[in-house]
Amino acid sequence: MTDVPATPAATLTRARAIALGHGLHYVYTGNVHDTEGDTTFCPHCANAVIVRDWYNILNYRIGDDGRCRECGGAIAGRYQHFDKAFGARRIPVRMAATSA
Ligand SMILES: [Zn+2]
Repeated sequence: MTDVPATPAATLTRARAIALGHGLHYVYTGNVHDTEGDTTFCPHCANAVIVRDWYNILNYRIGDDGRCRECGGAIAGRYQHFDKAFGARRIPVRMAATSA
């Protein structure tokens, strides 16, 4: 898709606002430097629980149990102990087939 210009950041921000306005909780602008648009907010207390700038995690406020450290509300996702941000580098993900 090098024949079309990149989507303007303002369009991404507007799309995110529309999605949030319709009740979605985990919507991100992605692939742009937009700390507000890259941040995960707790759907229970509205505190920022994961603050990101692109792939960099600037603040992390979710317990190992996947709950907001401010209010204890569940944050959708899968969690494990978080030591430090891995930054803007690729990490290998091992995908295993599951049997039904
Ligand atoms: Zn919360």
